[in-house]
Amino acid sequence: MSYFGDLKPIIGEVHINKDRCKGCAFCVEYCPRNILELSEEFNIKGYHPPFVKKSEECCYCQLCETICPEFAIFVTVKEEEEEEGENVESRS
Ligand code: SF4
Ligand code: SF4
Repeated sequence: MSYFGDLKPIIGEVHINKDRCKGCAFCVEYCPRNILELSEEFNIKGYHPPFVKKSEECCYCQLCETICPEFAIFVTVKEEEEEEGENVESRS
């Protein structure tokens, strides 16, 4: 039996302002879940902004947000979606 009952881990939703980014890759290097990667695309300044490659694995530690020198990335708590299977009848 768990002392934490029905507590679920928080999942973060990452938001990136691509045109503020200067492509330093701090967020990519220091993300503890390794979920960010620099993209191939160029932003308005000619840098490669990051993208989220594993969106379900963000733990909302906000390290990327804290470390970004350009305030180009921030994280919010992902809204909980309705549990799949709840009120879903058999599709057969
Ligand atoms: S909040 Fe943490 S886990 Fe999520 S992208 Fe940023 S550094 Fe990675
Ligand atoms: S830390 Fe900020 S400026 Fe650096 S790559 Fe990430 S989003 Fe871009």
